[in-house]
Formats: sequence, structure tokens, C-alpha cells
Amino acid sequence: MTDDETDERFRARLRAFLTEQHPGRRPKDPVERVAWQKKWLAALYDAGYAGPSWPRAYGGMELSFARQVVYQEEYARARVPGPLGTGLGIAAPTIVKYGTPEQKERYLRPMLRGDTVWAQGYSEPEAGSDLPALRTTARRDGAVYVVNGQKVWNSSADIADIFFTLVRTGPPDSRQDGISYLLIDAHAPGVTVRPLRDLTGD
Ligand SMILES: Cc1cc2nc3c(=O)[nH]c(=O)nc-3n(C[C@H](O)[C@H](O)[C@H](O)COP(=O)(O)OP(=O)(O)OC[C@H]3O[C@@H](n4cnc5c(N)ncnc54)[C@H](O)[C@@H]3O)c2cc1C
Repeated sequence: MTDDETDERFRARLRAFLTEQHPGRRPKDPVERVAWQKKWLAALYDAGYAGPSWPRAYGGMELSFARQVVYQEEYARARVPGPLGTGLGIAAPTIVKYGTPEQKERYLRPMLRGDTVWAQGYSEPEAGSDLPALRTTARRDGAVYVVNGQKVWNSSADIADIFFTLVRTGPPDSRQDGISYLLIDAHAPGVTVRPLRDLTGD
């Protein structure tokens, strides 16, 4: 973006990019679909059109709010694929605001480019609306955490590389005061992901 560019010119430039680079029809096969979506997200990032609200320091566009509205209008109009996983909308803003410089450097760009997919692991079979009831424990053992428990309803868990989770690090009755935010490598030994079919068959 150039500083003297008008909203209209920005809209036209973005529209041209989304039209010319449109990745085509969504593949029916789920594996092909994820690859198709990742390819698109990488192309978007590499061309400087990813993360309209993100800081430029982490690969975003850092647009004004008005310009973000233009971006979202054009993005929806073009019917191009959206983000993969739930990390971009939920975990990333937390890392942008509260993460250490190392965490920002390590996690943000790969997430924005679609190279790593993040899924949320908060809910549990006995902890939905009442999240302070969660029972998954994380115990520090030297340089690692040993995690025990079960999460449920984790959208995109089947394609995730990282789970951003809430786990109990305090005593069992510590409710909301004993919860920590832990990133878990989805490919780590001991992680099992099972499908949960909903009423629509998804
Ligand atoms: C499609 C889908 C995707 C999801 N994706 C994710 C995800 O990616 N990651 C994740 O962590 N979770 C996810 N969830 C979980 C979702 O956030 C939970 O379903 C939600 O927290 C509610 O929990 P629950 O289903 O156990 O219902 P419950 O908490 O058991 O609630 C059941 C009913 O009781 C009502 N209720 C509960 N407590 C009270 C109260 N004190 N007073 C009055 N009414 C009450 C609720 O409103 C609800 O109608 C997903 C759920 C769905 C359906």
C-alpha cells in the first residue's frame, strides 16, 4: 500500500488481484481442499494481501479500520477461500498483544501464511459453558509439560498442527484461577484426534 493511495484505488487494486489470482473451484476431496486452501493463503501472504488488521512487522497489512472494511467487502465479493483453522481469529490477537518477541516471531507469520494450522482446545465433555470446570491437567516436568485429559468440539482438529488450549495447572478445585493457556504440538506423541460427526453429516 502506498500512503497516498485512495480507498477507491486500493479497492480496485485488491479486486484485480483477487480476480486474477482466484484459485478456482473448491475441490470436493477434503485432502485436496486443504492443499488448495493452503496454496491460496500462501499466495495471498506472498503478495502482501494477508492479515488486513495485523501489524506489518508480522506479515500483515496494518490497514486503517475503514480500509479493513473495504478489504472484507472485496474478499467476500471475490468468493476466495478464507482462513484455515481458528487460530487467526482467536489465538493470533492474543499473541500480538501479549506474546513475547520470540513467540511473535515463531508463530505469527506461519499461521498467517497457512503453513501451520491452529485449532482451539478449550471445551471438554464436562466443561462447555462452565469452562472453569475443565479437568485437563498440565504438570511441568523439567523442560516439558505432561498433559492429561480430553477436549471436544475442536473445529479443524483433523488438520491442525498446533492446539491452543486451556489446561489446569492449579489444584483441582482452583476453577478459573488455576487455568493456563498452553500450546500443544498436534503431532506430539500421545495426541489422538477422533472425528465427531454433527447433525449435518459434517
Ligand atoms: C460446531 C461447533 C464447533 C465448536 N468448536 C469449538 C472449538 O473449536 N473449540 C472449543 O473449545 N469448543 C468448540 N465448540 C464448543 C462450544 O463452544 C460449546 O459447545 C459451548 O461452550 C457450550 O458447551 P456445551 O455444548 O457443553 O453445552 P453446555 O455448557 O452443557 O450447555 C448446554 C445448555 O445449557 C445452557 N446453560 C449452561 N449453563 C447455564 C447456566 N448457568 N444457566 C442457564 N443456562 C445454562 C446452555 O446455554 C446450553 O443451552 C464448538 C461447538 C460446536 C457445536
